Amino acid sequence: MVDIDRIKLQLVDILCKEFQSVWFVKLADKSITTFAVNNKKVAPNSVDIANSFKNYDDARTWYIENYVVEHSRKRLLEQTKVENVLSQVTDSDSYFIEYGRTLDDKINFNQIWFDKIVNAKSKEIEYIVLGFRNIDVSKNTEIDGLTGLLIRSVFFRNSEELLRIYPETQFDLLISDIVDFKKINETYGVKVADDILRWEGKYLASMSNDDLIFGRYGGDQVVAIGTHEEISKLISEENLSQFFEAEKNNGLPEINVKFGVYVDISHNEPVVSSCDKAHMALNSIKHHYEKSIAYYNDDIKEHLDKQHVIENSMHKSLQNGDFKVYYQPKHDTKTGKLVGAEALVRWEHPKYGFMNPSDFIPLFEQNGFITENDRFVWRRTCENLRRWADMGVKTVPISVNASKLTMSNADFVNRMQEAVKKNGLSTNQLHVEITETLMSENVVDLVEKLNQIRSFGFKVELDDFGSGYSSINILSTLPIDVLKLDMSFMQQFGDAKRYMVLESCIELAKKLGLKTVSEGVELNEQKEELGKLGVDMIQGYLYSKPLSEEEFEIYLKEHSA
Ligand code: C2E
Ligand code: CA
Ligand code: CA
Repeated sequence: MVDIDRIKLQLVDILCKEFQSVWFVKLADKSITTFAVNNKKVAPNSVDIANSFKNYDDARTWYIENYVVEHSRKRLLEQTKVENVLSQVTDSDSYFIEYGRTLDDKINFNQIWFDKIVNAKSKEIEYIVLGFRNIDVSKNTEIDGLTGLLIRSVFFRNSEELLRIYPETQFDLLISDIVDFKKINETYGVKVADDILRWEGKYLASMSNDDLIFGRYGGDQVVAIGTHEEISKLISEENLSQFFEAEKNNGLPEINVKFGVYVDISHNEPVVSSCDKAHMALNSIKHHYEKSIAYYNDDIKEHLDKQHVIENSMHKSLQNGDFKVYYQPKHDTKTGKLVGAEALVRWEHPKYGFMNPSDFIPLFEQNGFITENDRFVWRRTCENLRRWADMGVKTVPISVNASKLTMSNADFVNRMQEAVKKNGLSTNQLHVEITETLMSENVVDLVEKLNQIRSFGFKVELDDFGSGYSSINILSTLPIDVLKLDMSFMQQFGDAKRYMVLESCIELAKKLGLKTVSEGVELNEQKEELGKLGVDMIQGYLYSKPLSEEEFEIYLKEHSA
C-alpha cells in the first residue's frame, strides 16, 4: 500500500498528460502495477489485462505482440527493455517513443512516455513509469498537418534516438525535392500543390517502418532516415517507378523528384548537419536535368565550398577587371571569309585561376549576377569595337549572349543601345544570342521582346538549336535573324535520323529567310558536309578557338582583307 500511495502522488502530475494507461515498474523485482486513466481520473486498473501480468517483461511482450504494428515490434522490444529505459532516464528527463498501434484493424499513432521515480533518501531510481497515449493526429503538433509526416524537430529527435539505440547499424539520410514545385504552385494554384504534398506524404508514410522514418524537411522537401537497406530500397528503380506510376494515376499534375543522399551518416554527428550534407548533394544536381539522385561526398563539399568562394568574390572580381571577354570567329562556309564573332566570357580568378563559363555561368544564372556579367560583356565589346575601328582595323559584327534573366530586364535593350551610342557604333554591329530555354516563357511576351530588340537594329540569333526540346514550330513563331545549330549535330552525322533533322532544320531556316551557323565545327569533313547542306557560317575550332582581345585584334587584322 505504501508503494501505491507513493505512485499515486506521481500520478497527479501525469494526469494532465492525457494517457490512456500508466504502468509502474518496480526496479527491485520488475513487478508491475498498472492504472487506467479515464476522464482524468486514475484508478488501479482492473480492466487492462496488463495488470494480470506480475512481471514487466511479460506485460510488455504481451502488449507489443498484441497491439503494436508488426514492423515496429522489434524496435519496441528493444526500446522498452529496463536497461535501455534506465540508461535514458538516469541522466535526463522523461522522454517519448513513437509507434503505430493497431486498434480494431485501424492503425493509430501512439506514444509511450518514460519517466522515473527516485527514492527521496537513497536518491536511487526506484520505479520507472510508462505512460501510454494515443495521439490524435489532427491535433498533434508533432505531425505536420499537411503531409502527415513528422515535423522537423520531432524527426531530428526520433532520428537521434534511432542512432542511439543502434550504434552499430549503418544509417543513410535522404532529402527529396519536387522539381519546379514553385512552377506547379504558380500554374495549378496552391490547392493542387498542397494536394500533391498531401498525396506524397501519405504515400511515404505508408512505407515508414521501424528502420525508416520520414519527416517534412520544409516546403516540398521530405527527409528520411533509415538503415542502408531501407534507403537503398526506397530509391531503387523498382520503388521509384511504382511511386511515379501511382503519382501518374492520382489525378494530380505529374511531378519529378530529386534526391540527395548521405550514405553511412555519423552516429556522433547531429542529424541536422547530416541533413545539411544530404541537402548539399541535392543542390549539386538541382540544375542537372538528367540527374535525379546525388550522393554526398567530399567532392560535393569541395564544389560547394568553391561556389561559396566564387559568390563572395564575383562583385570584387568584376570591379578588379578579372573578367575577360574572348572572341570566337565565325566564317562564311563558302568563301571562308571572317564574317562575325561570338563574345564569350572568361574569369581569371585570384584563387582558382583561369575559369571557363561552365564553372560559373550556371551559378550566376542562379544568383542573378548573370545580368551584371552580360552587361559587362556587351559594354566591353562596344569599347573594343570602337578601339579597333579607331586603329583602322576592319571589324565584324559581334554576338553577345543574353541569358533569360538579362532578357527579362525591362531596360535591357535601352542599356545595350546606350553602350552602342556611347561608343559611336551602330546597332547592326552587335548581335544578341538567345537560347531556347526562353521558350518556357510566355511566347507572346517573348515575341514582343524580340521585335523590340530588332526594331533597335540589333540582330537576334537563336543559340543551341537542336540541343534540347527544340520544336521546329518555334522557328516560324519567333522573329529571329540567325539560327545557330547546336554542336551536338557535329557528333551525330552518322545517325541517319539526326541527319534528317539537321537537313530539315536548314531547309526550313532557308525558307524562312534565316541565316544559319554551325557551332563546334572541328573537322574539315564536317565543314564540307555542312557546305553541301547549305549552312551559311561556321564557328568552331576548325577556324579558331575563342581568342583573347589581343589575339582577336591580330586575327581581325589578318582576316580583314
Ligand atoms: P555557347 O554560347 O553555346 O558557346 C559556345 C561554346 O562552345 C563556347 O564554350 C566555345 O568555346 C565552345 N566551342 C566553340 N567551338 C568549339 C568546338 O569546335 N568544339 C568544342 N568542343 N567546343 C567549341 P564556352 O566559351 O566555354 O562557353 C560555354 C557557354 O557559356 C556558352 O555556350 C554560353 O552558353 C555560356 N556563356 C559564355 N559566355 C557567356 C556570357 O558572357 N553570357 C552568358 N549569358 N552566357 C555565356
Ligand atoms: Ca552562344
Ligand atoms: Ca551555342
